[in-house]
Amino acid sequence: MAAYVSRTFSLASGDSPAARSPAPAMSLVDSRSLPDASPLQVFVKAKKKINDIFVEIEDYVQDAVGYMRGMQHDRSIVSPEDTTRVESYTLKVRGIRDVLTRDHMKVAFFGRTSNGKSTVINAMLREKILPSGIGHTTNCFLQVEGSDNGEAYLCTEGSSERQNVKSVGQLAHALCKEKLGESQLVHIFWPKDKCLLLRDDVVFVDSPGIDVSPNLDDWIDRHCLDADVFVLVANAESTLMLAEKNFFHKVSMRLSKPNIFILNNRWDASATEPEFLDQVRQQHTERAADFLVKELKVCNQREAAERIFFVSAKEALQARLQEQRGLPPHTGALADGFPNRYFEFEDFERKFEECISKSAVRTKFQQHSQRGKLIATEIREVMDATYERAQQLKNDKAVGKKEIYDKLNFTEQQLLMLTQEMKDKIHRMVEDVEQRVSKALSEEIRRLSVLVDEFSVPFHPEPLVLNVYKKELHGHVEQGLGSNLRARLSTALALNIENSQREMTERMTALLPADKKHVSLTVLPRREPFEILYRLNCENLCADFHEDLEFRFSLGLTSLIARFAGRGAHKLAVRNYASMVSRDLLSPSDTGDTSLAVHPAAHFSDSLSTWSTVALASVGSQGTVGGLLIAGFMLKTVGWRLIAVTGAVYGCLYLYERLTWTNKAKERSFKRQYVSHATKKLRLIVDLTSANCSHQVQQELSSTFARLCHLVDEATNDMHADITTLDKELRQLEEAAGSAKVLRNKANYVTRELEIFEEAYLRS
Ligand code: GDP
Repeated sequence: MAAYVSRTFSLASGDSPAARSPAPAMSLVDSRSLPDASPLQVFVKAKKKINDIFVEIEDYVQDAVGYMRGMQHDRSIVSPEDTTRVESYTLKVRGIRDVLTRDHMKVAFFGRTSNGKSTVINAMLREKILPSGIGHTTNCFLQVEGSDNGEAYLCTEGSSERQNVKSVGQLAHALCKEKLGESQLVHIFWPKDKCLLLRDDVVFVDSPGIDVSPNLDDWIDRHCLDADVFVLVANAESTLMLAEKNFFHKVSMRLSKPNIFILNNRWDASATEPEFLDQVRQQHTERAADFLVKELKVCNQREAAERIFFVSAKEALQARLQEQRGLPPHTGALADGFPNRYFEFEDFERKFEECISKSAVRTKFQQHSQRGKLIATEIREVMDATYERAQQLKNDKAVGKKEIYDKLNFTEQQLLMLTQEMKDKIHRMVEDVEQRVSKALSEEIRRLSVLVDEFSVPFHPEPLVLNVYKKELHGHVEQGLGSNLRARLSTALALNIENSQREMTERMTALLPADKKHVSLTVLPRREPFEILYRLNCENLCADFHEDLEFRFSLGLTSLIARFAGRGAHKLAVRNYASMVSRDLLSPSDTGDTSLAVHPAAHFSDSLSTWSTVALASVGSQGTVGGLLIAGFMLKTVGWRLIAVTGAVYGCLYLYERLTWTNKAKERSFKRQYVSHATKKLRLIVDLTSANCSHQVQQELSSTFARLCHLVDEATNDMHADITTLDKELRQLEEAAGSAKVLRNKANYVTRELEIFEEAYLRS
């Protein structure tokens, strides 16, 4: 192997013109001091952009969770599963945001011990951060990353303790102190403002030499899976070793197409044999390209040419340290061809930056972008379904509202119509009842003598007994008339009324909703059938009845004249009775008023009787004088015999009547007088009684109808309340649907943002 190395270098004579050469006006001033010129800015900008988008996604998820929680009372719109599903995205988005803030570009350096890995890292970082040299061998993984607080410190794996590091010597000492395993990782934090690459989120990982490590698989698992770029630092003085190749074979088995750069370091050594330079370079290039293209199959030939470099890390580091000190980079003992090697180192850095930036954006952000899109899509699906459900529910409720509204209008119209109809019907029935009662009462009055004749209580003219007799007769007549009227009318009337009530109930029930129909049945039937009260108070009505049981010869003048007396008093008494019945109608409970018997009318009646007596006496005295004149005249013309015969007949008749004036005759006379008196009185109250009865019927029907109306009113009130509730629900659904739509559209917006991001950073 050593022979081969010396042979190759003996062939080298210097950089060939075909090799990368500096531009004519090449300046060693670092062009990357302008931050925006660095391809790494693509990653920095992409990271900022996707972070911003995820801030929006986080807000969006919170809005969606707020909406779902606000709606979870209404399970018909939002299911608990959907709420849980949307809630779960909060943690996912937070996780992605955490990862995003930690996301960086990672480059891992591998190669055999002392190939110059640490030197390359230092050269790239423009500072001696990692200890290097023959005296120091990296015996664990060292990760150099930027620290935000401007401090330099290190943390060993599994410990949060920060060990301050001021210089590379201190670091070397600290690392020697630690008993570290070769797979262990030590984080070295270096102030970002000192190194542009660190500021741009590039993380460098130095590894122990591949040649000393027994456990490559463990390395790969622990340190390589998230690396964006691998740099194989080879020794240009030898060829690629099997150990190096083996390691990358393992890497490419675990990662699909890893980005591998091959740095042929220590190219300054070739300056000693410039004649073989081109040949050696070509040989190394071919072998390295074959390794990448044919063995690892991670790139094609054209790409491989962009991945293989011949550099001197030591020179590059030296030049940069000079620059830091303000000296020209090429001072000191430098081998020939330094500018070319330095240019190639910068070229490597440019290609490396482009590659790592592109690769990191793709590997790190593509998955975040896709997960963001997935979350937005899933929330959009939930919002879409929620919107559809709210819309459907809204439409259903609108239809329901219209139905209730139509029914309400119909019910109100029908109620108006029915009210008018029932009013007419009740009016007709009332008139009919009035006529029937009037007719029946008149007929009963005509048959009053029969009723009075049926009264069989023993009669006695003694005033006290007679008073009791009269009272009972009043009762008998009242009861008889009442029961006769009931027998004639009540059944038919009750049937009529019941039919009317039933019809009323049926028609009104039709207006009630199904669940209220049974309530209308409580309006009917009543506890007992309706019965008209006729209110014939004979005792009051005939309170002014005065029997005349004095014997009166029927052919006597006084008797004949007396029949015509006392009519005015009757009329007055009837008028008083009417007023009492009216009072009864107004206050039906007040039925115990018997004061009519001692009403002031009695006083008028008395005064009328006095007047009648005087009149009768005068007429009677004039009649006697007239009779004597007529008798004298007749005595002269017809003769005394005829007068005597006539007188005898008159006397016999008188005698006969006087003898037959027994108790029985008195009873008959009493009953006759009573019938005549009561007939007159009762006739006077026919209209009043029938009006009273019809009023009762009217009251009964009206109250039934009023109760039914009340039920319908309750139903319409319920409908009004339902419409108000539905209006409120419709408004809520409108809002719910509106919010779901806004959130759905916001999901589209977020997806669109991520698509724009992908278009800008991932597909270009
Ligand atoms: P590592 O073990 O791979 O990290 O190697 P180091 O970076 O520690 O380097 C080992 C030795 O090689 C150091 O003395 C460096 O100065 C030296 N060295 C590194 N790079 C170059 C180079 O390009 N040219 C020469 N001549 N020496 C180098």
